[in-house]
Amino acid sequence: SRTPFVAGNWKMHKTIAEAEAFVSGLLPLVGAVDDVQVGVCVPFPAIQAVVESTRGSAVQVYAQNVHWAEQGAYTGEVSIPMLDELEVAGVVIGHSERRQYFGETDADLSKKLPAILAAGLEPILCVGETEAQRDGGEMEQVLRGQVEEAIADVDAADLARITIAYEPIWAIGTGKVATPDQAQEACAFVRSLVAGRDAGAAEQVRIQYGGSVKPDNAAELLALPDVDGALVGGAALEPQSFAGIVEGA
Ligand code: 13P
Repeated sequence: SRTPFVAGNWKMHKTIAEAEAFVSGLLPLVGAVDDVQVGVCVPFPAIQAVVESTRGSAVQVYAQNVHWAEQGAYTGEVSIPMLDELEVAGVVIGHSERRQYFGETDADLSKKLPAILAAGLEPILCVGETEAQRDGGEMEQVLRGQVEEAIADVDAADLARITIAYEPIWAIGTGKVATPDQAQEACAFVRSLVAGRDAGAAEQVRIQYGGSVKPDNAAELLALPDVDGALVGGAALEPQSFAGIVEGA
């Protein structure tokens, strides 16, 4: 009885004007949705506009990164109170692009998660293995390291509020979507890692699959027992295709 959660990660796309055009196109398409949680992960400059234009709708707004400190000498970073003031629902952390290009580490994530949760915001934690790690039989070891370290300092009472996005790096932006068996196996494994901390929370945590999700493969992936939603990149940039994925949930 976990509510499916479909989120679009815009990455570094959309000016304010483009974001508003997207919302105008999306709201008529998902307005009646009430059995699926819908989110858009928006670059900082467009957040305020998208919060305003989605107010009262089923669409929630997420940021794509945040710092763990309340304030300080961290040039270029954005704090949790700053996001909270914008009235975002939550924030995506640990995306593979942030790990790869900007050096975000599991230790960073272990500081971000408790701070985000303490502020009442909802985190989406991204994890996932490279193709070489999968081929080398290291998938479980990689996922275990990422999940266990990131959630190490989260209170058991808050664990259920985390959404974990399993995004195999070889499937991101490649058109090489995981097979249903691969997605189910990995998402079930991620859930078992949460169960290692708290069995009840593991039943409630939403686990999204991400990586080349499209309208024509979403329904099959979202029907899997341990896949509770999707984190969508390229196909979330246009209202029609994103709404098509929401309909598949
Ligand atoms: P694509 O859907 O473009 O493969 O991107 C997935 C992703 O990285 C979402 O965070």
